[in-house]
Amino acid sequence: MPDQLGTPLATPLFDHVALIGLGLIGSSLARGIRRKGIAQTITAIDSDTAVIERVKALGLADLATTDAVAGIAKADLVILCVPVGACNVVAEMIGSHLSQGAILSDVGSVKAAVVQAVSPHLPDHVHFIPAHPVAGTEYSGPDAGFSSLFKNRWCILTPPDDADSEAVNRLSLFWEALGANVELMSPQHHDLVLAVTSHLPHLIAYNIVGTAADLETVTQSEVIKFSAGGFRDFTRIAASDPTMWRDVFLNNREAVLEMLGRFTEDLALLQRAIRWGDGDTLFDTFTRTRAIRRGIIDLGQETAAPDFGRRTPEQDQ
Ligand code: NAP
Repeated sequence: MPDQLGTPLATPLFDHVALIGLGLIGSSLARGIRRKGIAQTITAIDSDTAVIERVKALGLADLATTDAVAGIAKADLVILCVPVGACNVVAEMIGSHLSQGAILSDVGSVKAAVVQAVSPHLPDHVHFIPAHPVAGTEYSGPDAGFSSLFKNRWCILTPPDDADSEAVNRLSLFWEALGANVELMSPQHHDLVLAVTSHLPHLIAYNIVGTAADLETVTQSEVIKFSAGGFRDFTRIAASDPTMWRDVFLNNREAVLEMLGRFTEDLALLQRAIRWGDGDTLFDTFTRTRAIRRGIIDLGQETAAPDFGRRTPEQDQ
């Protein structure tokens, strides 16, 4: 694959980065940090010995261990890349062992709950700057990662009001070196925005694929055989990691329920329009939503290629 991250940095931004959780996101970070020369040393930490063996086989880090306390000992940047629900236990384990002046960050898809879970375990000499790279795929594990995952994607930082500006700046430079665009916002605002742009779509996808699978009048083989573009897109999203998404919904409950309420009301309006043959309402809604899609393409966050962005290798030749 061509190198999309450009030339390595002249000087590393950090001496020693420790990544905890070497799944899709952690392993993509390890690859990007190495390729871009962002740190002199990378330590990979995971509670799963099979993951550690895989990390070693893939050569993703200088040191790979299941011992989180030993792994973070000399790190000046530690990033939690574990499911949101595991942040509490990991922070409790490592909190008092973090180096003086170290930056602790995370990549969790929910922010307010992570702040609440992690902050109580941290000494004053640690800078906690939560982050969420809005980038991912439906795959998990250390083999699924790739160095350009964050390229041209947003990474949202949610520093506390009294955060050390130098630490925020260093973490911003870290994500920018990986090709991401950085934006700052409060954890609460992040959770509201992501509830509608990411969490609700996943819930809808899990639900619609589950409904299709449960239909008694349509066989499972027909669902698979005649899956049209729209349904296939839902199946891709609904293949996302169950642990990660369970934790997202349990930890962003209020915002998701708020958005789900709005969604249900709007769905009822469409249901009513179909029942009463109100074509104008349907046409107006579909016209408005088409413009959103164009906006996302214009911002470079999606391809305008036809067939729902799926092109076969033959077409690309
Ligand atoms: P993943 O591929 O499932 O990897 C998570 C890794 O963390 C697994 O290797 C897991 O080990 C390990 N782990 C779990 N609990 C641990 C603990 N207590 N101590 C050490 N390691 C532990 O997950 P991911 O997709 O990379 O997601 C990680 C984080 O990124 C989540 O917080 C998620 O919300 C966030 N995120 C994900 C995406 C996405 O699209 N996937 C996008 C943005 C942000 P096991 O093998 O034992 O499970």
